[in-house]
Amino acid sequence: MLKKILAGSALAVILLVAILLARTLIAPGARAIVLSPPAIDASSAEARAMADRLGAAIRIETVSWGDRAPDAAAFGAFADFLERSYPAAHAAMTREIVNGYSLVYRWKGTGEGAPVGFIAHSDVVPVEPGSQESWTHPPFSGALADGAVWGRGAMDNKGQLIAMMEAAERLAAAGFAPSTDVYFLFGHDEEVGGVNGAGRIRDALDARGVHFAFTLDEGSGLVQGVIAGVAPPVALISTAEKGSTTLKFTAHGAGGHSSAPGKDTAISTLARAVLAVNDAPFAPKIDADMAAFLGAIAPHTPFAQRVILSNLWLTRPLVAAALAGEPTTAAALRTTTAATLIEGGVKVNVLPQSASAVVNYRIHPRDSVAGVKARAERQVEGLGVDVEALGGVEPSPRSSAKSAAYDAISRTTSEVFGAVPIAPFLTLQGTDTRHYIGAADDNYRFTPFIYAPDDLERIHGTDERLKIVDLARAVSWYEAFIRQTAS
Ligand SMILES: [Zn+2]
Repeated sequence: MLKKILAGSALAVILLVAILLARTLIAPGARAIVLSPPAIDASSAEARAMADRLGAAIRIETVSWGDRAPDAAAFGAFADFLERSYPAAHAAMTREIVNGYSLVYRWKGTGEGAPVGFIAHSDVVPVEPGSQESWTHPPFSGALADGAVWGRGAMDNKGQLIAMMEAAERLAAAGFAPSTDVYFLFGHDEEVGGVNGAGRIRDALDARGVHFAFTLDEGSGLVQGVIAGVAPPVALISTAEKGSTTLKFTAHGAGGHSSAPGKDTAISTLARAVLAVNDAPFAPKIDADMAAFLGAIAPHTPFAQRVILSNLWLTRPLVAAALAGEPTTAAALRTTTAATLIEGGVKVNVLPQSASAVVNYRIHPRDSVAGVKARAERQVEGLGVDVEALGGVEPSPRSSAKSAAYDAISRTTSEVFGAVPIAPFLTLQGTDTRHYIGAADDNYRFTPFIYAPDDLERIHGTDERLKIVDLARAVSWYEAFIRQTAS
């Protein structure tokens, strides 16, 4: 009997191994991926002229400070600069200035199809005081050196904005006439929330009944050397972005002298509440888009990893747990919980009458602002702690990874970059797209730049720069993409 069971389980194991291997091997084969050469040679005079224009755009200091009004002279100069630099595009499109600083271009289509919207932002974050000296080239120099354009905004987001305008200029100069309306939506305050820029553009579009087939914004791109075990660049097309909310937990106490305390003070009660929410985080889950992402990278991972990723039907809990072990991948799998502020007590020998802590949540699309608060209230139930929401932004709905627009993003990426893996993804930070939710059938976030780990540190950091080859490829990408989607 025992022998029979052993034989049976051995057979089961053999069968299981066979299935795992078969699924691993039928997964599209890993091949050495050679990037396609850029259609516009990076050392050509043409690419050099594009880089010069990006450099000039960087020299105009359109900084969002948050605590002061936008610099009208700088934003005015930026609009004038675009007009001077892209004459064919400006002749083909109408331009509107919204709320003083934001720019909306409309390229009227010859047909009746739904319009398409390209989102970028003209503002940049400030350079951290005291860090200027650490820049290889001054942050607003727009210097061309070592095959790159250097300065604040080179990647975030003037590089993208300029690539879009370069593409529009080339298309207009070639006599291209879109069949559907093409909009360029350039907000001026994305770095401080986008309410006065993208928010007001949205109001203006709504008043006119404009509804897009899709919008395309920053928020993801091609990453290389960022995903462990994966060598080639991986194109991540973001179909959603996380929301956020902040909860304030307040505990109350009787007060009085600390020589005769009760069992708890406001501070110890508060501590219990903070640990209650901190120690029971949201469960990490692999949703359909995450599964598609893991499936796309699987063929490019080492064998053991490939077996695991090609068999999510079996390994899903294991993979979820492994991804949850790394802060950045964990953030893609769940709503995150971070206690960020704490306050309470006035004197060493006085019992505090109240103590409070603030917890910041970044909300996964499967959760909601109200749901996060309700969950926290359940977690601290009975502890005698008040829970108050300090505002919130809902996560975006998931856009389709099967739409015509998604396919066009994939196809254009394959054409311009070569056979790189392509997968849907989730943007962990907020973008201007939050203001266009509901204004389009689908909202995507994808910038056709290759980001290496050091690039990710340069964005909002020191030595931000964009390689000329990346700019040249991006121009070709937008040009091809607009041809595909608006003709
Ligand atoms: Zn940005």
